[in-house]
Amino acid sequence: MTGEPVLRLEAVRKGFGTSLVLRDVHLEVPAHSVTVLIGASGSGKSTLLRCVNLLEEIDDGAILLDGEEITDPRVDPDAVRRRIGVVFQAYNLFPHMTVVQNVTLAPRRVHGVPRERAEERALELLDRLGLRDKAGEYPDRLSGGQQQRVAIVRALATDPRLLLLDEITAALDPELVSEVLSVVRDLKAQGMTMVLATHEMGFAREVADQVCFLDGGVVLEQGPPEQVFGDPRQERTRRFLRRIV
Ligand code: ADP
Ligand code: MG
Repeated sequence: MTGEPVLRLEAVRKGFGTSLVLRDVHLEVPAHSVTVLIGASGSGKSTLLRCVNLLEEIDDGAILLDGEEITDPRVDPDAVRRRIGVVFQAYNLFPHMTVVQNVTLAPRRVHGVPRERAEERALELLDRLGLRDKAGEYPDRLSGGQQQRVAIVRALATDPRLLLLDEITAALDPELVSEVLSVVRDLKAQGMTMVLATHEMGFAREVADQVCFLDGGVVLEQGPPEQVFGDPRQERTRRFLRRIV
């Protein structure tokens, strides 16, 4: 892999009060690759993603997006967030807005895209994710899986450089998980650079270019899925996988 990584974390440290959640995290995410974060509940996966999106301030170290240090205090966090798409566990669509209004809100308000063009792009993305006929619906008329797919469309509508997905299937009924995962699969095929936290180990193994196991505030083990899942080097990784699979 050549060229600058899209995302780089250098010795990132983040604590809450006296508890240190991320002690010394190093991570590199090459362009067009998928990085999957695994680790026990409370191991810091969400905190890491929130630090990248500047929703949390790191205590030490540096985070670079396309080579620019975004954790530099002089950097405007809103400008950084405009380059990053985020989808969380709970879909968080605005209930009083239709699907297309949800999707076009950020492009129109934050990026200043004219309404017609924002809607055109929204419909194109909805179409790609099989949601074209839902454009005029309100979120409560959609299934959980459809709502989460709309949340993904909304994150894509600003053409982000990087997509962060935090346990996006965790709140879904089991029969709705696969439709959301297949969207992630498609995005990977289209070359989207992604970092995702998940407990879906089968999916992690399939979609990941690199897997990072978070434990004790560090990336304890990192490598291609065949290695991390098939032949983990660390006893703690083995124990975690035995428990979860
Ligand atoms: P994961 O996503 O891997 O389950 P989290 O990043 O959510 O882990 O949490 C890591 C640790 O940080 C947990 O112990 C959690 O309680 C703590 N934590 C997360 N956010 C906060 C916060 N805003 N204030 C205090 N503690 C927090
Ligand atoms: Mg989490």
